Amino acid sequence: MTERRLKHFGWGREGEGLTAEEETAALARYRRLFKVELFDEVMPPPLSDIELGRPRLAPPPALAPCCSSDPYDRVAHTYGKSFSDYARGLAGRYDHAPDVVAYPRNEAEVAAILDWAGGAQAVVTPFGGGSTVVGGVEPRLDGTAYKAAITLDLRHLNRVLEIDPTSRAARIEAGVFGPALEAQLRPQALTLRHFPQSFEYSTLGGWIATRSGGHFATLYTHIDDFVESLRVVTPGGVIETRRLPGSGAGPSPDRLFIGSEGILGVITQAWMRLQDRPRFRAGGAVRFADFFSAARAVRAIAQAGLYPTNCRILDPQEALNTGAADGSAAILVLAFESADHPLDTWIGRALECCADHGGSPEGAGVADGHREGAAEAWRNAFIRMPYARERLVRRAIIADTFETAITWERFEAFHDTVKTATETAIREVTGRPGQVTCRFTHVYPDGPAPYFSFHALGRHGDLLAQWRAIKSAASEALIAAGGTITHHHAVGRDHRPWYDREAPELFAAALRAAKHALDPQGLLNPGVLLDP
Ligand SMILES: Cc1cc2nc3c(=O)[nH]c(=O)nc-3n(C[C@H](O)[C@H](O)[C@H](O)COP(=O)(O)OP(=O)(O)OC[C@H]3O[C@@H](n4cnc5c(N)ncnc54)[C@H](O)[C@@H]3O)c2cc1C
Repeated sequence: MTERRLKHFGWGREGEGLTAEEETAALARYRRLFKVELFDEVMPPPLSDIELGRPRLAPPPALAPCCSSDPYDRVAHTYGKSFSDYARGLAGRYDHAPDVVAYPRNEAEVAAILDWAGGAQAVVTPFGGGSTVVGGVEPRLDGTAYKAAITLDLRHLNRVLEIDPTSRAARIEAGVFGPALEAQLRPQALTLRHFPQSFEYSTLGGWIATRSGGHFATLYTHIDDFVESLRVVTPGGVIETRRLPGSGAGPSPDRLFIGSEGILGVITQAWMRLQDRPRFRAGGAVRFADFFSAARAVRAIAQAGLYPTNCRILDPQEALNTGAADGSAAILVLAFESADHPLDTWIGRALECCADHGGSPEGAGVADGHREGAAEAWRNAFIRMPYARERLVRRAIIADTFETAITWERFEAFHDTVKTATETAIREVTGRPGQVTCRFTHVYPDGPAPYFSFHALGRHGDLLAQWRAIKSAASEALIAAGGTITHHHAVGRDHRPWYDREAPELFAAALRAAKHALDPQGLLNPGVLLDP
């Protein structure tokens, strides 16, 4: 059976989306929030109405079979999935569409495409699932002397090539999407166990290139920790690192490429550390009177070395929005998993930490309650959320998120500063109150990773500028109050101004030097992480 195409506008495949009931429920909530009866609705243009410039280059005959300048391919590779991408897509603006989309079928073709690009004065954008929310895959020529843009889509490099069950690792091609990767490991009862919310439509190479965070809250959840070795095709040649469980041999070459966001080379393969599939689970939801009491309980859990798989606090509004509670309490979704041992001791101790801060288990208890009640409501909302944005933007609803990390001693003041700055910006920009909510995605012994969602009613024709003003105010507040501009969404183009303030200047100079050594012509993703 052939799979349906990925949408050129929106999340997932053509035909997928919110059900009518889900859409009605979401809109009812926004009507109450913004106190409006009706939303002004604008539909995105059909593919056939989107205007694109003529392709400015054509592939050489040897590469023609793996290249396309078909309008669908060009449009579907112009943007990622950020609010600004949706706002421009809604307006039918695809000004920076790539001229050619190349779908290499093997590593030799990846190298040949880089050679061709160098000779043809074309920039190259590595493309995994295109789920970037920071402008990481938009091919931009501004500030460069380049004449054309090639997007290099790795979807055909999608195999698990080798499994080493003794060391529990696998050699995997970088273009594989999450579900296909897990399906190939399942017969061996193994898992990568890396589940970003975008899991279905993002790739191993994209995860490594952006240092993605999985949805588990502690310990092994970041892609960084799973990378055993890498193979990268750069314009300067191929780099392959050595498979090792650890090494103290100088700065880590793997770490240079993990988080390199496509500017240093194209990751084609990686040996990834795997895990046995979990068999034991314990969890459920715990109610707290307020967000900060829940945060103190989470700090105690994190510092006790309990390492829960899920440890997500939802503030009362976020709990209400996701159906996890009625808005009167903060909810902690707590879970433990193990392939090896029962977890009664761990959950028992975590509940003691919660009780110390006024937390009480919801419902009948938490023995294996991670798929019930508030925890289940939250999980369902989490899975369906990606489909909402394309429907909301049609109604000029600006719904977006930003994420950060901060040490515990600054957390409470930081939270209040960032929330207030974002609420103020929404009011100033849109002329009416909006909503800003917070949850934790990851927690560490020395601090949490707070994840903010904001909701504002914008105006068609002005959406991009309105979003940018709110996003800038929030980003300013994050950086001024000592947080990071991103905990796991990466830098791309959208976070550049704040990343440039966060990263030490000499480090940026060192990164520029590394780029020059690997990509002397500056072909790869100009404008991402560094100036072109
Ligand atoms: C609904 C939604 C939920 C999300 N949830 C999470 C989450 O839970 N955790 C999280 O960390 N992120 C999340 N993201 C952000 C995004 O999914 C991640 O950044 C993801 O890692 C990107 O993977 P991708 O394959 O889609 O990469 P792309 O979006 O295609 O590319 C991202 C960047 O990596 C580069 N790149 C891609 N593949 C390669 C390669 N093989 N070699 C070199 N460079 C490459 C690109 O040039 C680009 O700069 C979410 C996004 C959405 C839309």
